[in-house]
Amino acid sequence: MNDYELTRETLAVTHGERGQAPAPGVEDVVVPLHLSSTYSVPDVDPDADLELLDPDAGEYLYSRLSNPTRNALEHRLAALEGAEHALAFVSGTAAITATMTAMIRPGDHIVAFEDLYGGTKTMLNRLFAERLDVDVTFVDATDVANVEDAMRDETRLIWMETPTNPLMHLCDIEAIAAIADEWDTIFGVDNTFLSPYFQNPLSLGADVVVHSTTKYLNGHSDSIGGAVVTNRDDIMDELAFLQRVGMGSMLSPFDSYLTLRGIKTLPLRMRQHEENAMEIARFLESHDAVTRVLYPGLESHPQHELAARQQSGYGGVLSFELDTDLDGTAEFLGRLREFPLAVSLGGVESLIEHPATMTHSPLAQTERDRLGISNSLLRMSVGVEHVDDLLADLDAALASV
Ligand SMILES: *Cc1c(COP(=O)(O)O)cnc(C)c1O
Repeated sequence: MNDYELTRETLAVTHGERGQAPAPGVEDVVVPLHLSSTYSVPDVDPDADLELLDPDAGEYLYSRLSNPTRNALEHRLAALEGAEHALAFVSGTAAITATMTAMIRPGDHIVAFEDLYGGTKTMLNRLFAERLDVDVTFVDATDVANVEDAMRDETRLIWMETPTNPLMHLCDIEAIAAIADEWDTIFGVDNTFLSPYFQNPLSLGADVVVHSTTKYLNGHSDSIGGAVVTNRDDIMDELAFLQRVGMGSMLSPFDSYLTLRGIKTLPLRMRQHEENAMEIARFLESHDAVTRVLYPGLESHPQHELAARQQSGYGGVLSFELDTDLDGTAEFLGRLREFPLAVSLGGVESLIEHPATMTHSPLAQTERDRLGISNSLLRMSVGVEHVDDLLADLDAALASV
């Protein structure tokens, strides 16, 4: 079976579903949910390598090491990113910790985007820098020269996200991959915001890609999970050791099942998220009560050209700033009916969040000011509802800003 000749629309629906036989003569059309924690083995095997059990060869022993439902999800994730290997973790955070731990040793140096997901930034500062003696340099990676300038002989890892949250800054994956090559450094990209449907960092030169499957991949706001995807056997072996033996941080069978089910509609959902987000971005940009709109699909976005080049779509997340203060922003949020005030993103339902008091409240006000996260900045995850309902709701709530 040559998977790479199939389109992602087809892979998302059927990859790994064929040949599932729970009982003789029964051929499930979907991957069954395997809850068993342990598996009886046919005989004594003196050569078994527990860290590298091969589920494809039917090697199942214990579900922390390998599980058929999780394995099916991992195969589909790899197929969607056009990769050899994928591992499903209990959260995006667990996937990131494992990936960094796999690469980094005390005394090493990491170059990271200053605009990273808040949890990742805190992890780098409080776990890797403070406790594990790793030096971390945060740079404004919208300009590749800043990444280049931060490189040192001890730099082991470059860690990026694009677009970032909530300012929708992009970095040039291909250009940074060239720097990573030149310095013989591993390059990791958190691809959560666009999903494999709109961006494939491995094909642009990244070594390893992580996802919070909590967001678009699962897509229904009912599972926390993460994934790591790579073509490099050495990275995969190290991650498999960490996940199965070092940390025990694999995704549960039930969450694997939910995520597999969610992925079937990833292409459909992503296209609708984007169509709705584009219409909302244009509407907000033309509204007097809105001072700026940050969405890579708009021609006004400073990196629109890069987005058009390295992404195959612009995604469903956008941010905008109101022409008012904190109180006016809170009142606006209170008037919305179709946008619950909630963190997270990527589900079928629209959500809105207030970075200054929610996702980015751990940052000092001066740091928020420096980055451009004002008290009237809002970030929206545009869902797949009918866009007319979303526009009417926004229009009504904006009328009194
Ligand atoms: C949500 C998110 C994470 C963390 O993932 P969890 O599943 O919540 O642990 C990491 N990176 C990005 C970009 C995210 O949006």
